[in-house]
Amino acid sequence: MKYEVVIGLEIHAQLLTKTKIFCPCPTIFGSPANTQGCPVCLGLPGSLPVLNKTAVEFALMAGLAMDCTIAPESIFSRKNYFYPDLPKGYQISQYDLPVCRGGRIILDIDGIPKTINLTRIHLEEDAGKLIHDQDADSLFDVNRCGTPLIEIVSEPELRSPQEAYSYLSAIKQILEYLAICDCNMEEGSLRCDANISLRPFGQAKLGTKTELKNMNTFRGVEKALEYEIERQTAVLDSGGVIEQQTFLWNAATGTTAPMRSKEDAHDYRYFPEPDLAPLRISDEWVGRCGAAMPELPRPRRLRFVNEYKISPLMADALTAARAVADYFEEALLQCNDAPLVGHWIMGEVLRVVKESDTGIAALSLTPARLGALLNLVRANTISAAAAKKVFSVMQARGDDPGKIVAELGLNQVSDSSELEKVVRAILEGSPQEVSRYKSGDKKLASFFIGQAMKATKGKGNPQEISRLVSKLLG
Ligand SMILES: [Zn+2]
Repeated sequence: MKYEVVIGLEIHAQLLTKTKIFCPCPTIFGSPANTQGCPVCLGLPGSLPVLNKTAVEFALMAGLAMDCTIAPESIFSRKNYFYPDLPKGYQISQYDLPVCRGGRIILDIDGIPKTINLTRIHLEEDAGKLIHDQDADSLFDVNRCGTPLIEIVSEPELRSPQEAYSYLSAIKQILEYLAICDCNMEEGSLRCDANISLRPFGQAKLGTKTELKNMNTFRGVEKALEYEIERQTAVLDSGGVIEQQTFLWNAATGTTAPMRSKEDAHDYRYFPEPDLAPLRISDEWVGRCGAAMPELPRPRRLRFVNEYKISPLMADALTAARAVADYFEEALLQCNDAPLVGHWIMGEVLRVVKESDTGIAALSLTPARLGALLNLVRANTISAAAAKKVFSVMQARGDDPGKIVAELGLNQVSDSSELEKVVRAILEGSPQEVSRYKSGDKKLASFFIGQAMKATKGKGNPQEISRLVSKLLG
């Protein structure tokens, strides 16, 4: 690879407000077409926009979480263009004075932190939706017009499609922790456009960039970028020139197709929105938004490693979703063995969550009950194998583990005298194996242990049985 890859991403995140950004219309996804509209979002003459306070607060939280500078005063502008999904003929957005400036995201790439700086985060409204391929006509749905969005713009500091993927994941995680976006890419709640250019290593000047659109998954973004790197490399290698263009990614064919040559900002004739006052934000308001924020994913991940002495890999998995991290910490209140609790959540609990298709918070198996179950394992009351049985019953019925253990008779037998009788009987019944063991075939120990476990129906304490086997054969 002789070129350095330069990538910048623009992410549009739909804010989880109950109503649109400038009118009281609801924003429920999947409602029948054209049932969520009013004179404001249809842009009828004489209607006036009123800014949604919650949308501003969500933008402030995003800005604080991403280390932005919050502008004490910002303004909305009209971005003028004609398109059938935009009845007003302009989109209300922020242009030269956005609500959040600068900012950064810290990625952990193979354990090494890398900072990606942000240019800005601004508020804007979404356009409506066009539905094509319906006979000869295209259909228009106003429901999405005026849905509140934040646009998060990065500096061109990403150096590979894989870094772009990590950056997207980090932003998604922050938005989910803040509960300000559901991040559902299939429903369009999170959308990403990418700018990409190549330049020879060591050259300061940026190459000509192209824009990629229409990626509907994070993997799609990664693949589209890989495809565009190959395309640009081939053009440059053959002595050609990169044209500033927009390409649409086609996930089915794994290729891009040119869409249009890029408009310049002046094509949009931005000017301040005359119907909205400047947005003034007091320090006190910013403070209140900050106080309402939860601990963010990265600090929480680092704290889990330091405080609970679990591996970075486990901390990653446990903090991937806020509800899982909450579940983990609640279970720890009951059972103070972080690696054990973490191991069970990553294995059994997340498997059940995946199978049952409900969130972890809705499980009948509460974190306190999981903790109580694992305490029984730690106290050697039940074996790990028995714990799995109890776990599935708990999941189905939502009972306390102690009750289920008693019901199923799973109490582990650790009583030496009782176990010794069992082991003696097995050794007496297997004279050939005993003589082979005594002449050096020590691997047979596991055979005797297995027989004893069978005889106790899995309830014998394996450590104790193992000790007795060595003792009686020694
Ligand atoms: Zn409306």
